[in-house]
Amino acid sequence: MSDGAGKAMRKIRGELIVISGPSGVGKGTICAALVGSDPRLCVSVSATTRPPRPNEAHGKHYFFVSREEFERMICADELLEYMDVFGTAYYGTPRSFVDGKLAEGFDVILEIDVGGAMNVKRARPEAVTIFIAPPSMKELRRRLEKRGTETSEQIERRYAKAREEMACMSGYDYIVVNDDLRRAREDVACILRAGRMRTDRCARLDEIMKED
Ligand code: 5GP
Repeated sequence: MSDGAGKAMRKIRGELIVISGPSGVGKGTICAALVGSDPRLCVSVSATTRPPRPNEAHGKHYFFVSREEFERMICADELLEYMDVFGTAYYGTPRSFVDGKLAEGFDVILEIDVGGAMNVKRARPEAVTIFIAPPSMKELRRRLEKRGTETSEQIERRYAKAREEMACMSGYDYIVVNDDLRRAREDVACILRAGRMRTDRCARLDEIMKED
């Protein structure tokens, strides 16, 4: 990996970043914008057994797999973590993609639910966890209803799940409130940038100490 100016740098393992927040809070939009503007960042694509929404593509938004295939992945230990999120579908993080990218020096975002985040933090205590919160529960409900991709029963289930998730917010390393998308994106970018300046992640130590 280079620093963008073409200088070779000591290879530093990437950072594992876990982003959670209730459905409808805008975390997907924030992550997509960050990845689009930061060549050292990538987002893990989860596997799920839920059916795709009309705008979703296999391999881009999720790997859409059958329950049988998902259960095979669990047995083969191919998942870093997995959850039965709404009692109706499995969601899980493929381990090999994440570890491969971290070894290459990329920071990797996992956009996963609260239960999954806690499991990742247990398995990988060095992971940085960020909770994206809505400005209020009222605003969250408005956003969920506006999305128009779910039935009212699904919206109610997601809203109930959101309340549970908000109760776990204080267990995260950082909380970013999304009342303005651009600002929230910048806040997350700041957290990533600060992480890259940590002493243990400085890729340019040798270069800095050069006297000739
Ligand atoms: P959606 O169905 O709206 O795409 O996602 C529903 C929930 O599943 C969201 O809270 C999302 O963060 C979570 N989720 C997506 N992928 C994963 C995953 O790989 N693991 C876990 N634990 N949760 C996930």
